[in-house]
Amino acid sequence: MPLTPFHLGPALVLALVLLWFMDLPALLLGSIVPDIEAAAAMMWFPNWPFPMHGFLHSFVGGTLLSLVLAVVIFPIRKHLEIPLRFLKLDQKRSFPRIFAGALIGVYSHILLDAPLYADIKPFWPLGLNPLLSEGSVRGLMYGFCEISFVVAFVIYGIILCLKLGILRARLFLFHNLCGSSVVESQPISRKK
Ligand SMILES: [Zn+2]
Repeated sequence: MPLTPFHLGPALVLALVLLWFMDLPALLLGSIVPDIEAAAAMMWFPNWPFPMHGFLHSFVGGTLLSLVLAVVIFPIRKHLEIPLRFLKLDQKRSFPRIFAGALIGVYSHILLDAPLYADIKPFWPLGLNPLLSEGSVRGLMYGFCEISFVVAFVIYGIILCLKLGILRARLFLFHNLCGSSVVESQPISRKK
């Protein structure tokens, strides 16, 4: 995918569907970070000696990248708890969840890029790309990513409804319990 932000659409869908199992920020970050080598080749190092979609766009490189990402994200993840709680997307911070999220994000990036670019070798050290598409899938891929943003928005709405529904049910239960305990604690003489 030429424009890195488009990767965030499918990643958002995955992150929301897997919210109870994988870390959302790690998955989103993992879905865009492999393009750091393309950015290095295009912007920072004009004489970049490697392919634009090189080692980090392979499953071996992606796995190592995910591990590095998880190690970097874990200590700073606690600073994201307040905004995530505000969005009703709060999650328990755990290293396995962060690593799993980063891994799924990076792999989703590789799978979206592999049909488009001949220089990607997803199964490196094997120098082949069986996922490369002969036809023009670029338009389809863009459409898929754009629709993913809409799907993610709908899923987020469902999550909000579920969480707010659970919250309301808890409040209702709490009020009922408190109300009955107040009535029970009143003196008998006042019950006439
Ligand atoms: Zn890429």
